[in-house]
Amino acid sequence: MISKKMNPLVQNNSVIRVMFEEGKRLAAIYGAENVYDFSLGNPNVPAPQEVEDSILETLKEEDSTFIHGYMSNSGYEDVRETIAQDLNRRFGTKFGQGNILMTVGAASGLNIILKTILDLEDEVMTFAPYFVEYGNYVRNYDGRLVVVSPNTVDFQPNLEEFAEKITARTKAVIINTPNNPTGVIYSDETLTRLADILRVKSAEFGTEIVLISDEPYRELAYDGAVVPYVTKYYANTVVCYSYSKSLSLPGERIGYLVIPDELTDSKEVFTAATIANRVIGCVNAPSLIQRVIKRCIEKGAAVNLSAYDKNRNLLYNSLKEFGFECIKPEGAFYLFVKAPIADDKAFCAQAQKHNLLLVPGSSFACPGYVRIAYCVSYEQIERSLPAFEAVAKEYGL
Ligand code: PLP
Repeated sequence: MISKKMNPLVQNNSVIRVMFEEGKRLAAIYGAENVYDFSLGNPNVPAPQEVEDSILETLKEEDSTFIHGYMSNSGYEDVRETIAQDLNRRFGTKFGQGNILMTVGAASGLNIILKTILDLEDEVMTFAPYFVEYGNYVRNYDGRLVVVSPNTVDFQPNLEEFAEKITARTKAVIINTPNNPTGVIYSDETLTRLADILRVKSAEFGTEIVLISDEPYRELAYDGAVVPYVTKYYANTVVCYSYSKSLSLPGERIGYLVIPDELTDSKEVFTAATIANRVIGCVNAPSLIQRVIKRCIEKGAAVNLSAYDKNRNLLYNSLKEFGFECIKPEGAFYLFVKAPIADDKAFCAQAQKHNLLLVPGSSFACPGYVRIAYCVSYEQIERSLPAFEAVAKEYGL
């Protein structure tokens, strides 16, 4: 019954999701407090109070047929205008509502833009380690994901290999900063060089290459780190944003695409993307939460970053003390740790014996590493430290 295209997806069902289920199974046996599930990027910090307030206010103050009704497939105009003005204020951009398309989270934003621009066997490039769903999203539209190998020195993208791998079939490049799984923020220098390469290569091949900036972690940057705004570096940029992490709303499925005027055929792309949103079956982003986002922006709502920062410091300092190697994440809520053996899956299996659930780096096309999602309670991290220390000792660290 299942299609040939769907079958491999069923066979390779997401390791992270499987791990999440395993966590629940172990919790039932050992008790939730004795299982240290670091597998899923599900925010543990509650949504800011403004979210609840805005939901209640919206329900009280706005007309029911309006807030629950159909709207333009690109979303409510006033919500899009509020987002555009907020971006302009923060990043000195010049967006208007005509540049903002409301989406069902980053996942649908990526699907919409890929559906909009990809032809059969077009190539989409990305940099390892990368969010594993990219391959699935690209295949949804019969494109081919081309992966640039990781630069494990500082996890900035490997731009030499990138330049070599661009071909006449390259239609898009997906970047993700702050990065899942490394927590690295792409520097001004990186983005400048990346944009230069794209301009040179698209001129060489006479093609248009779209830079897709997948940035659900934009707001999660520590120690005042600046996350450069990518549209400033390269005209053919589409930004894919989500409130899943920045307001702890992953289940609400809300985000947006920015399609700037500077993008080639911007207006046509916006229209096509709006239609793509409809025909992939999303139709429009959820209406109530769109209204809530507008109010949250007006109130300056932000997630409690200090909770993640505290987790980051405790976990990073402790793991370093136990002898693990990793770079200190500047953003997002992941630590990407070098496994003490080459086989990251074997290392994860060993860690699991201590009820530590970690995700192998090979799930992000970066074997030899593991991802630890620290969007968990501080107490869970504290309780897990003896297990990490025991694993370190087993490997002679
Ligand atoms: N992109 C990256 C890099 C992610 O880590 C995630 C979710 O974890 C997504 C996209 C999907 O986010 P959303 O919940 O907004 O669909």
